Amino acid sequence: MDTTVIAIDGFASTGKSTLSKRLAAHIGFTYVDTGYMFRVIALLVLENKWLNKEEITLAPLTAALPELQFSWLSQKEGQKLMAVNGKVYGEELRTAEVSNLVSKVAAIPAVRTHLLQQQRDLSKSASVVMDGRDIGTVVFPDAQYKFFLNATPSIRAQRRFEEMQDKGIPGTYEEVLANVIQRDQMDSSRAVAPLKKAEDAIEIDTSSLNVDEVFALLCDYLA
Ligand code: C5P
Repeated sequence: MDTTVIAIDGFASTGKSTLSKRLAAHIGFTYVDTGYMFRVIALLVLENKWLNKEEITLAPLTAALPELQFSWLSQKEGQKLMAVNGKVYGEELRTAEVSNLVSKVAAIPAVRTHLLQQQRDLSKSASVVMDGRDIGTVVFPDAQYKFFLNATPSIRAQRRFEEMQDKGIPGTYEEVLANVIQRDQMDSSRAVAPLKKAEDAIEIDTSSLNVDEVFALLCDYLA
């Protein structure tokens, strides 16, 4: 089956997931949130205490990886939810604890190798809008469409802070800003699959654009 991949990469809290979800619904593609996959592993590290002080203990984590299978659960109206060994995760992936650990988890080569295969497998049977950090560079270097979203750190932190307030997730603006800056730095500087714009990606600075305006731009490029 010939499928299409639209890769949407970019810095933390640039609106990638909101836009990718909306775009996927608009054109009838499946939305794949790869940040969710890394966040699930970060949550497992916390729950299982695979930590020695600040450092992740690699042996139990790498032993557990082959058992972690990501799959689709079909919902009504053609919606799909991503399940991990049958379980669907929600807001527990958005806490400060998970956000503070996830970039460390994402820098572990074994984690990336496992998720890379899962990401490719999830896209075999359906056309996808996939958002992340390395989709256009590593996961699908031949993706038919590639976008790279950016915005100033303070604007991104403000957007994320407002979203957390709406959802009742605790945290201050300063904490969110520090996390956004730290994650960008770690994601951009890691050895394996660092966050960077693919040479052939279309870059969109969303600093002075609202979601509707960015969505319209994406649709224009795809038209
Ligand atoms: O997109 P989201 O903010 O949920 O991603 C959480 C973290 O997962 C990122 O900061 C990054 O460390 C990692 N990630 C990644 N590669 C991806 C998607 C996410 O390294 N493709």
